[in-house]
Amino acid sequence: MTHRQWTWLAIALLAVAWPLLSPFSVTLLNYIGLYSLVAVGLVMLTGVGGITSFGQAAFVGLGAYASAWICTSPWAAQALSGVPGALLPWLGLVLGLAVTGVIAWILGAVTLPLSGHFLALGTLAWGLSLYYIFGNLEGLGGFTGIAGIRPLSIAGYELTSPRLFGIIIWAVLLLSIWAMHNLLDSREGRAIRALRSGRVMAESMGVDTSRQRMKLFLLAALLAAISGWLYTHLQRFVNPTPFNLEIGIEYLFMAVVGGSGHLWGAVLGATLITLLKEQLQDWLPTLLGTSGNFEIIVFGLLMVLILQRASDGIWPLLTARMQRWVRPMAPRTARTTQAALARRKLPPQGQVVLSAAQVTKRFAGLVANDAVDFDVKAGEVHALIGPNGAGKSTFFNMISGVDDPTSGTVTLLGQAMVGKPSRAFAALGMGRTFQHVRLLGQRSVLENVALGAHLRGRRGWLSAMLQTDRHEEAALLAEARRQIERCGLADYVDTPAASLPLGQQRVVEIARALAGQPSILLLDEPAAGLRHLEKQALARLLSQLRSEGLAVLVVEHDMEFVMNLADRITVLEFGRVIALGTPAEVQANPRVMEAYLGVEDTEGAVA
Ligand code: ADP
Ligand code: MG
Repeated sequence: MTHRQWTWLAIALLAVAWPLLSPFSVTLLNYIGLYSLVAVGLVMLTGVGGITSFGQAAFVGLGAYASAWICTSPWAAQALSGVPGALLPWLGLVLGLAVTGVIAWILGAVTLPLSGHFLALGTLAWGLSLYYIFGNLEGLGGFTGIAGIRPLSIAGYELTSPRLFGIIIWAVLLLSIWAMHNLLDSREGRAIRALRSGRVMAESMGVDTSRQRMKLFLLAALLAAISGWLYTHLQRFVNPTPFNLEIGIEYLFMAVVGGSGHLWGAVLGATLITLLKEQLQDWLPTLLGTSGNFEIIVFGLLMVLILQRASDGIWPLLTARMQRWVRPMAPRTARTTQAALARRKLPPQGQVVLSAAQVTKRFAGLVANDAVDFDVKAGEVHALIGPNGAGKSTFFNMISGVDDPTSGTVTLLGQAMVGKPSRAFAALGMGRTFQHVRLLGQRSVLENVALGAHLRGRRGWLSAMLQTDRHEEAALLAEARRQIERCGLADYVDTPAASLPLGQQRVVEIARALAGQPSILLLDEPAAGLRHLEKQALARLLSQLRSEGLAVLVVEHDMEFVMNLADRITVLEFGRVIALGTPAEVQANPRVMEAYLGVEDTEGAVA
């Protein structure tokens, strides 16, 4: 059976067993469903997006209180006197989502620019403060809470029984997992996955990382709010306790223990933690002879243990064990499709595509680039060489939007680029690779390369979740496949990128850059780690790209490779241009020979 068939079987079993389960099991499963919904948001946020949040319980609280308030407050009763009571919970849902959206947006705007543990600390801070706000607002019943909340009614039928209500909870959960699964399996999903492994890479593929992080944060908050809304109408009573920081930390446990990068890991984590908590609360006090929240200590120890033994959580371990019963899905083969992707017109042969004038970069006292002039034309390979520390990488950053020059100008296709982010460079048609390969190691070569075509698609999050993007997605994957074949990696389309040798990973990066249909290609040491035959193949590929009219800039160590390939060579030394010319001219230049060719006559000393 395939994954999908197993999933349907599990759902069918749950559905058949539902009427037969004991009331206690139903209650337990209802809570597991509610927790899972929050944990699914956290898997997206933390596991996939790399943003740790301890504060999700507060968003659950917002969703819960919004509906509780609308259903019980005298003020709301007066203002909404004409509205039938059965509609109130639905208005509560709308209000809860709106309030959560606004508050999450504000909190996100403040916390998301923080990095690493500061961000996590920020989430602790608002997780704590929202709890006290719930407790101290008279209108929300203080720490006593709000009772007498009306049940949810659907088509005139009041859902007062937990068994019926559970069907709604699990339907919402399963739909959310389906939507998140679709989202991850799309153009925007690739952008989300790219957030984790470094924003420089994602930005240079044209991804607006700040915007994606904010959307991810809002998504997780809204899922939490929906869970809170369901909780309110299941319990029909709210007080601040279930939304405190401790529960916020438990939600994170669930996501991480289950499997931080896996949607079903969220359900597994929620199940394990809920069952364990249930058990521990029963016999820890007996064991220790006193009562208290000891389970949180056990959770802490457990989390450390699991993170040490299985940093990706339990879900991947489980699926590895199950492997012999799961037939792999047929690899996603992109159907060849005629769906049109955005194509740009390449500049005419010989036109200057990128130019840098008097680019200077100072780091404190050190001048890494000193008034560098440089240009690349359509249809040429221009190589940049120079001894170690000459300033090549610094210059590369200046002309790709990763960093800004202290002074000087950078012009790409006639546009002044200083101060613009690297995604603006990508949007104009710059494709690049990295000196230290930056791929999503666990994802297939196909997915990695398709990320390069990000800007050639238009479909957004909602479209991905509802799968109305399938036509465009097929076109993007077909384009990625075409570039992979062109770069000679056809046999590795479905291979995880990290399992390729380094040299081939470099080629994957080139394919990824090409998927964006660039008019200029910037390559940082593309031949490093390649074997002789691979270098020849790479040189052939670059010559072909040149003849197609691409402008190519190569920073490279390998002199033989550069001398055979480049049309022009610029030599840097101590941040200054000391020579510019054809390979023959540069090789004959006495200053260049002095700079390093004469120092040592091995290849390794160069560049
Ligand atoms: P190359 O790539 O040619 O080896 P780099 O551009 O990496 O040279 O470095 C040029 C000089 O600038 C070196 O002396 C390096 O130490 C210095 N440098 C590079 N980046 C920074 C930085 N972020 N802060 C301070 N100094 C830097
Ligand atoms: Mg360097």
